[in-house]
Amino acid sequence: MAEPTQIAEIVSLTALTLHTRELVLRPTEYAIPFRPGQWVSLQLPIGDHPPLTRAYSLAEPPLPTGHLTLVFDHVPGGKGSSYLSSLKPGDRISLSGPYGHFVLPDPDSTNLLLIGRYSGLVPLRCMIRSLAREGPLPATTLIAQAPSPAEQLYHDEFLTLAESQPSFRYVPLVNEDPTNHATTVAAIKQVALNGRKVTPMIAGIKSFARPLRTFFMELGFDRKEVKLETYD
Ligand SMILES: Cc1cc2nc3c(=O)[nH]c(=O)nc-3n(C[C@H](O)[C@H](O)[C@H](O)COP(=O)(O)OP(=O)(O)OC[C@H]3O[C@@H](n4cnc5c(N)ncnc54)[C@H](O)[C@@H]3O)c2cc1C
Repeated sequence: MAEPTQIAEIVSLTALTLHTRELVLRPTEYAIPFRPGQWVSLQLPIGDHPPLTRAYSLAEPPLPTGHLTLVFDHVPGGKGSSYLSSLKPGDRISLSGPYGHFVLPDPDSTNLLLIGRYSGLVPLRCMIRSLAREGPLPATTLIAQAPSPAEQLYHDEFLTLAESQPSFRYVPLVNEDPTNHATTVAAIKQVALNGRKVTPMIAGIKSFARPLRTFFMELGFDRKEVKLETYD
């Protein structure tokens, strides 16, 4: 059954980098319980046949206030992300959710290997913050690809976490071309080769995420063992 739609009020819209924005929403009717990695659907009053529906992953684990934190990159000419960039505190939009199965695996899953490109880091960041809330992180590697040094989302936060938590390894990579997988594959090999069992989770646009899943399958992983969240 489809989740009901409700109105949410914009609490804040903040730039994280030149091209990414954090949008905090307050659902006005009822709280939305969700698991880190899940997403909400926004129904935007724009486009040729409104509403224009767009999905956004939750960036922050559940908060006592019930506020929802989304982060998006402003796609040049993108209808949805341009509209969101124009919102002001107090504006209202329709939203439903939560949706999705891209969530943390069983606690006994070993060696999380989280791989994201740009706004694909959003659901992974939510998972990491949720794990960090519970205590020392289980063995976790984050391979984070950005399109440019200035667009490294959550870079300082991940560096700080890696300094304070020996079980968290942060591998930042910069690559303008999402289809160039050389450095990402090299980083994966360092973690996943020599029979080491890892639990891979990959998020981002298809041209980034799908070839990496194929690479894991070439390493001997079953397709279902490689969790994927694709954005386009
Ligand atoms: C489950 C799910 C979760 C998502 N979570 C997020 C999120 O947390 N943050 C976020 O920024 N987006 C997320 N998206 C993508 C989002 O729904 C929109 O597709 C995105 O904001 C672009 O919409 P637009 O109308 O601005 O661009 P459109 O006019 O629809 O143009 C899309 C084009 O922009 C390119 N592009 C560049 N960046 C993105 C991007 N991030 N997503 C999709 N296409 C992109 C694509 O190659 C595509 O050709 C998610 C999508 C799904 C399905």
